Amino acid sequence: MPGFELIGDLERKEVNDVLDNGVFMRYGFDGMRNGHWKAKELEAELGNQLKSKHVQLVSNGTAAVTVALAAAGVGAGDEVIMPTFTFVASFESIMLLGAIPILVDIDDTLGLDPKAVETAITPKTKAVMVVQMCGSMARMGELQSICKDHNLLLIEDACQAIGATFKGKPLGSIGDLGCFSFDFVKTITSAEGGAVITNNETYYTNADHYTDHGHDHVGSDRGAETHPFLGYNFRISELHAAVGLAQAKRLPEFLAIQKRNFGIIRDALSEIPEVTFRAVPEGGEENYGFISFFLPDLDIANKVSAAFKEDGVDACFHYYNNNWHYIRRWDHLKELKSLFPITKEVKEGISYLSSAEFPQSDAYIARNISCLIKLSWTEEQVKERAAKMVKAIKASL
Ligand SMILES: *Cc1c(COP(=O)(O)O)cnc(C)c1O
Repeated sequence: MPGFELIGDLERKEVNDVLDNGVFMRYGFDGMRNGHWKAKELEAELGNQLKSKHVQLVSNGTAAVTVALAAAGVGAGDEVIMPTFTFVASFESIMLLGAIPILVDIDDTLGLDPKAVETAITPKTKAVMVVQMCGSMARMGELQSICKDHNLLLIEDACQAIGATFKGKPLGSIGDLGCFSFDFVKTITSAEGGAVITNNETYYTNADHYTDHGHDHVGSDRGAETHPFLGYNFRISELHAAVGLAQAKRLPEFLAIQKRNFGIIRDALSEIPEVTFRAVPEGGEENYGFISFFLPDLDIANKVSAAFKEDGVDACFHYYNNNWHYIRRWDHLKELKSLFPITKEVKEGISYLSSAEFPQSDAYIARNISCLIKLSWTEEQVKERAAKMVKAIKASL
């Protein structure tokens, strides 16, 4: 997945353009810029590739999720349904806006279980946040119809799945709003950065203003701009956008490399009958940034994880024992350890978590291992790695 592995001449050229020119800010300074608008160019590039009418760049992926929620009007007391397996950014964003994260089970896609979503809907539910983990997707068809039937927003966190598609549509473009991260370990990186995409003009205008203090971006005198509503600063810089622009242009190349490397490893692991793969809904195509598979039980998964480490098979995650991505280790959330007082509504809304259990999610995550697919491997190296993985798994069964 990491685009940083292939940083090269194109990235250097785009960054040097900005350095030579000296305008690091994405707005204003029209006279000084000599036609350089890297953030605008990157927005256009992403709009094309992700088949979306509107793109708003932001400072990072966590900001993207926050801005998507805010742009659609999610706020105090609203419940947002999200998966137990995700990144901490999901609940951070929801809670920053005073909304309440309602965590529900995942299924064999490693994404939101539509049945669990339906059960969790209450009169306070405002949005469903689907998180497309490890390069693939949840059962999007079912989730779309649930959201439609219950008049809920569908927000897609596609930070880990840029370039994956469902029925020909890029992930991120299926929900009402889609979110991307270009942090240092994502498929394309801008060092730090993110994007919100949408086909909804109002959400886009809201995102455009909200990410820049509510300024309305009318005319060319920034000081004269009015504020239709309150905002904040979630801006990206021209330097970051320049790196992102070079990487975004190379996304098709990165996806092709991932697909080749993924295929070699998948073919090798397929020969082990005890290994099964994460389900991909019909019509879905992964971005091949990870290979995610299930082992027969937790004990074997523990053994395989240890064997991988011993044999130098790096970048594989057994999320059951990981502090960043799975509810089991989120004591700071369960105990609401906040630096500042949290509203009564959120405190009460989230109290269910201190005793909640998620046996269905546990059953999948305990048996799952997900390995990053790197871009810099040669075909020879991938084959060697696949053979090592097969050997380690067979020895652990
Ligand atoms: C990386 C990531 C984010 C946050 O992105 P940052 O740019 O690191 O803030 C959010 N959600 C998911 C699923 C991610 O993987």
